Amino acid sequence: MTRTGTETIKAETIKVETGAVNCDGGGGALGHPRVYLQIKPEVGAIECPYCSRHYVLSEAARAHPGH
Ligand SMILES: [Zn+2]
Repeated sequence: MTRTGTETIKAETIKVETGAVNCDGGGGALGHPRVYLQIKPEVGAIECPYCSRHYVLSEAARAHPGH
């Protein structure tokens, strides 16, 4: 049985220092209009709906309550 096209593409994981991130896909083939994403501290991560990049809030950033 052939398994053509079943490879899982691993999306990039990008560690960020702030919950407010923006993503444009980095240009190139995965580029898309710039979108702004807000990481909820209680979640600690968000996935870009366009390019599936995974933005993870750094532990240092999570340690600081955003008051
Ligand atoms: Zn993106």
